Amino acid sequence: MQFKEVVGHKKIKEKLIHTIKENRVSHAQLFLGAEGSGNLALAIAYAQYLSCDDKQSDDSCGVCPSCTKFKKLVHPDLHFVYPVSTSKTVKKDPISGDYIAQWREAIIENPYINQTKWYEIIDVENKQGIISKNESYDILKKLNLKTFESEYKIMIIWLPEKMNAFAANKLLKLIEEPPEKTLFLMVSENTEQILQTILSRIQLIKIAKIDNESMRIALTDKIGLSPEKAQDIAHLSNGNYFSALNLINSEEEESLNFDYFTQFMRLSFQRKIIEIIEWVDEISRIGREKQKNFLAYSIRLIRENFMLNIDNRELVYLTKKELDFSENFSQFIDKENIYPIYDALNRAHSDIEMNAYNKIVFLDLALKIIKLIKK
Ligand SMILES: [Zn+2]
Repeated sequence: MQFKEVVGHKKIKEKLIHTIKENRVSHAQLFLGAEGSGNLALAIAYAQYLSCDDKQSDDSCGVCPSCTKFKKLVHPDLHFVYPVSTSKTVKKDPISGDYIAQWREAIIENPYINQTKWYEIIDVENKQGIISKNESYDILKKLNLKTFESEYKIMIIWLPEKMNAFAANKLLKLIEEPPEKTLFLMVSENTEQILQTILSRIQLIKIAKIDNESMRIALTDKIGLSPEKAQDIAHLSNGNYFSALNLINSEEEESLNFDYFTQFMRLSFQRKIIEIIEWVDEISRIGREKQKNFLAYSIRLIRENFMLNIDNRELVYLTKKELDFSENFSQFIDKENIYPIYDALNRAHSDIEMNAYNKIVFLDLALKIIKLIKK
């Protein structure tokens, strides 16, 4: 990962490069930033720059033997630690090493990954990952290795807030008495669960959300979106590149949801019962997951329309198409009906989840909405 592949954060990149040029590399650093900000991507780019054999003034070279290994995340002096849990393939005492193949593949594909996505990839079902006691023994083992090719041995710890007390204390000792030429780069979303004693011994690098302008440029230049679409997605993703990528993927479904929603609201408003029954027939056929997504989408649009109605435009997150519809529709969602409408949509969502007969659920929902929409 090179710096140029990381979206935005021009100033931080310059600062990071500067510390290396000035030979002021701190042995324990914490890249703190919200999900999708690029904190992990920056830590990897920084590690790659540090190990690069032919450093350029503003980036690693990308082609030297070290960079080539970094690109595949297989450099022998680069180690990763991340939260894991048991799964069908790893039944007992899981550590990061058990999932290294999945990790490399996932991070190469998208270094903006979030926790939920990671747990989905390693298929731990609904369990939360942790960094365990066994992991801390493995960390020690890795750090006892000599460096193979680089000046530094670099350990990137993704989400140190997931360490249990034992692992955190072991890490604290390592930070207090660091092995020579070893660098700890921690990548965190939330410092509240990290030991104070660790926090007080590391250099903190605060990473803001990606600014709108950088996001827009990345979406047009890297992804190839039209300027208008890029503007929409940049606005909706709110500085989170992971969610921007997701939004693009789910765009087709969103567009379908928008059509269903506008039809549904128009028919309800006009009380066209026959057409509503046809609409119910249609939506009953799209499958439960999509029905749930549609209902979640509807809840979001209802909320945004309410905000629009009470004139809180700064807090409105709508695409242009949605906004065009909502400019008129929002007058029908107010403080009287917002809760009952929410409630009806939420109920339908949980009924679908519990495998209720979907035609009945949607017809029932439609009849409620007809009554609730203001005339
Ligand atoms: Zn290089």
